[in-house]
Amino acid sequence: MECLVCRRIVDRDGLEFWGATICPSCQRKMLEVTADQPEYGAYVMALRRLWRRQLQAARDRRLKEGEHLEPE
Ligand SMILES: [Zn+2]
Repeated sequence: MECLVCRRIVDRDGLEFWGATICPSCQRKMLEVTADQPEYGAYVMALRRLWRRQLQAARDRRLKEGEHLEPE
C-alpha cells in the first residue's frame, strides 16, 4: 500500500481506513501539525481527496441500489 500523504510504500504498520493507508510518520505529523504550518495544507488536501472518493463511492452504491428498487 502507498501512503496517502507522502506516497511512500507502507508496510503493515500503516493506519488503514477507507481503503487508504497513512504511514506511521505521517500519522505522527498529522497529529502534531498546526494550521499555521505549511505542511498542514498538504494533509488537509490528502484527507479531502480521500473524503471525496468516499462520497463518490457511497453515491455510486446508492445509484446501484436505486436500480434494484425500480419497478421491472
Ligand atoms: Zn506518509
